Amino acid sequence: MRRITLARRPKGMPVPDDFALETDPLPELGPGEVLVAVTYLSLDPYMRGRMDDAKSYAPSVGLGEVMTGQGVGRVVASRADGFAEGDMVTGITGWASHAVLPGDQLRKLDDRLPPTTALGVLGMPGFTAWTGLRKYGRPQKRETLVVGAATGPVGSLVGQLAKSAGLRTVAVAGGPEKCRLATETFGFDAAVDHRAHDDARSLRKALAEAAPDGVDIYWENVGGKLLEAVLPLMNTHGRIPVCGTIAWYGGVEDSADRLPATWRAVLVKRLSIDGFIIFDHWDDYPKFLQEMAPKVAAGEIAFLEDVAEGLENAPEAFIGLLQGRNRGKQIVAI
Ligand code: NDP
Repeated sequence: MRRITLARRPKGMPVPDDFALETDPLPELGPGEVLVAVTYLSLDPYMRGRMDDAKSYAPSVGLGEVMTGQGVGRVVASRADGFAEGDMVTGITGWASHAVLPGDQLRKLDDRLPPTTALGVLGMPGFTAWTGLRKYGRPQKRETLVVGAATGPVGSLVGQLAKSAGLRTVAVAGGPEKCRLATETFGFDAAVDHRAHDDARSLRKALAEAAPDGVDIYWENVGGKLLEAVLPLMNTHGRIPVCGTIAWYGGVEDSADRLPATWRAVLVKRLSIDGFIIFDHWDDYPKFLQEMAPKVAAGEIAFLEDVAEGLENAPEAFIGLLQGRNRGKQIVAI
């Protein structure tokens, strides 16, 4: 089997030499275990955090260990009840061509849907959007929502769900092509290109035009310049579900202390800010699938997948994801 391991811990943005491609013999199958040939691997921003040694809500990847990640694949051999050769399944396979996992850590896929949807729109990112918006965004008709990384799997579903709940939706995305995708494919009412604005002040001006009634929900995917631009535009009793801060995943570059101004905005505007990690909410996953899978199957929810070819290209595709080169959910075909 081929697998990609963590060769060294990155400083800032990862580079290809932080990863190593290794080849090992396939492991023996123990009782209760299943051998899966991975067909697609999910690449997600959280993986950058796992490459560091810092303490977080999940353990880091050890040096020389296989990079963590969810995959979908076909069962090649099974010693677990309920799984047979040929079944399509998903689980934490890691960045590898094959994985041996206990049967209770695998889920069989609904064969009426493309298997890759289990990694994006109907997987962890889609579930994050669905859960976080209901629990922490608490959308109300005619409110305005702003979300960054708006054409990715989280932002694009946040936008579509908010729109169908009767909100004005404003996308923030990198470059004119992604802004067009945001309005044309994902139905956002307006899109602002963050790359066209060098500082928070100029970005704020563009956002204020796109959100003339102020911002009621700022879905935080990004941090950095965008957070600074949006905060003054927040309406009283606004909500900020803090989902991710990708602008800071390579380290914090601007060291100016924004905390006093941030906390003052929280106080004066009586904002609710909720940090959440989707792992705490898995009990609701069946409810999410029940509601959203038929909508995806019927074409009522738009989704976009960006498929890189070959496990050996996973590091480059992952670096591209952190830099915004992905168009939609980043997946690797193994
Ligand atoms: P995406 O597929 O949207 O990929 C990341 C995108 O982030 C890039 O394409 C780029 O889009 C944008 N980006 C990168 N750097 C910057 C920057 N400096 N400023 C603005 N935008 C930037 O990712 P996901 O949809 O999978 O994830 C979105 C967010 O949600 C991430 O922060 C992730 O960590 C978080 N998340 C949190 C979870 C939780 O449990 N709390 C669960 C799942 C995801 P563009 O080119 O448009 O700028």
